[in-house]
Amino acid sequence: MRASAYPLIDADEAAGLVLDHTATLGVEQVRLAECYGRVLADDLVASSPLPAFPSSAVDGYALHAADAGKTLGVLGESAAGRPYLGRLEPGTAARILTGGVVPEGADVVVMIEDVRVDAGRVTVPPGLKAGTNFHKIGDDMGAGDRVLVAGMQLGPAEIGLAAAIGHAELGVRRRPRVALMSTGDELVEVGRPPGPGQIPDSNRWALLAALREAGAEVEVLGIAPDEPEPLRRLVENALGRADVLVTSGGVSVGTHDLVKPLLESLGTVHVGRVKLKPGKPFTFATLNAPGKVAFGLPGFPVSSLVTFEVFVRPALRKMQGFAQLHRPTLPVRLGYDAKPTVERTEYQRVTLHREGAELVAETTGSQSSSRLMSLAGAHALIRVPAGDQGIKAGSVVEAMILTLP
Ligand code: AMP
Ligand code: MG
Repeated sequence: MRASAYPLIDADEAAGLVLDHTATLGVEQVRLAECYGRVLADDLVASSPLPAFPSSAVDGYALHAADAGKTLGVLGESAAGRPYLGRLEPGTAARILTGGVVPEGADVVVMIEDVRVDAGRVTVPPGLKAGTNFHKIGDDMGAGDRVLVAGMQLGPAEIGLAAAIGHAELGVRRRPRVALMSTGDELVEVGRPPGPGQIPDSNRWALLAALREAGAEVEVLGIAPDEPEPLRRLVENALGRADVLVTSGGVSVGTHDLVKPLLESLGTVHVGRVKLKPGKPFTFATLNAPGKVAFGLPGFPVSSLVTFEVFVRPALRKMQGFAQLHRPTLPVRLGYDAKPTVERTEYQRVTLHREGAELVAETTGSQSSSRLMSLAGAHALIRVPAGDQGIKAGSVVEAMILTLP
C-alpha cells in the first residue's frame, strides 16, 4: 500500500467541484409521446387564451339571464365540436351540451335538471345569474401566460397542458449518455458460478438502475480487469460516444487501483479523496474532450451507491437542466443515536415510519460499506456531520428522502 497523493476534500466542497465542472446539455425537440420524464428546456408560454371560446360546463340551455322565469322557443343546439352558428336573441334559447360553444348573445347556461321542456319550448327558473355554468374565454389561462417553467420535469399533467395549447412536440434537454464499467479481477458476470475468491459484479446492476432513475442513457461496458491497458482501451473506445464515464472499483490506494492514473492521463482529477463515509476514495475528473466528465466510484456496493446519490445524481440532473438537483428533504425525528465519524461526514441509511404527525427514522443496522442490506429498503439518508457530537436520539433533522414509506 502507498499513501494517496490526493488531498482529502470536504464533502460539500467536493460536491461543489463536481457541479462547477458539469455543464447543461443541449436541447432536442421531442414528440409528446416521448416527453414523459424529460426536462423542459424553455418556458412554455400560451399564445392564445384557454378556453379559446366560452364553453358550457353542463348539459342544458343557453339563454339570456334577463329571460329568467320565462318560457322560450328553442332555436337549435350547440354540441361539443358542433356549435350553434347564429346569434341568440333575447326571448330565445339553444340546447347546449357540455363542451359546446355558448352561442353569441347568451350569457347563462341553465342545467337540464332545472328546466321544463314541452313541445319545443323550454321554461327556465326565475332568478338566473349571468355568467353561470360555463367557462369563459381565458378562464384557465390568458394569452402570454407562462404555463410551464424551464427545468420542470414533464409528467402527465404537464404533457396534457402542452397538448391543450397546441404543441405536438417540446424542446427538452438531451439525456446524458453514460458509459458504465465495473473494474476488478474478482468480478464475474452475475449468474455464472464464482470461482475461488470471485464475486458477482453487483455494482453494475445497482448503478444501471440508479443511472436510469437519474435520467441517463446507459451503455454498459462490462467488467474491466485490473490491468491498465485493457482498461484504457475500453474507456477510450466508449468515450467517443459517452458524455460521462462511471466506473466502480479501482480507486483506493491498493496497487491494483488503476482508475485514478487512467483519469489523470485522460484529463484532470479534481477530486481524488473525500471526507465522506462511505465513499472516501470517490474520484471525479474532467476529461480532455470538452464537456465530458468521469466518476470513479468506490468498489464497495454501498459506497458506490451513496457516492452516486451525493455526487453523480445531482450532476446528471444538472446536465438535463433540472431546476431541482437534489433529493427532497423532510424533517424527521431520530429514533436512534447517530454516532459520528471523527473526520468524515457520514450518510447513514434509515427507514422511516409515521408516529402521529411525525416521521421517525430508525437505522437499517450495521452501516458497513459492503453491506447492501443497509441500503436495501432504506427510505432516507441522514447526514451526520464530522466531529465528536453525533446526533442524539429524539433530535429532529432534515433527511434526504429516497422513497417515502
Ligand atoms: P475496490 O474499490 O476495487 O478496492 O473494491 C472494494 C471492494 O468492493 C472489494 O471488496 C471488491 O470486491 C468490491 N467490489 C468492487 N467492485 C464490485 C462490483 N462491481 N460488485 C460488487 N462488489 C465489488
Ligand atoms: Mg478492485
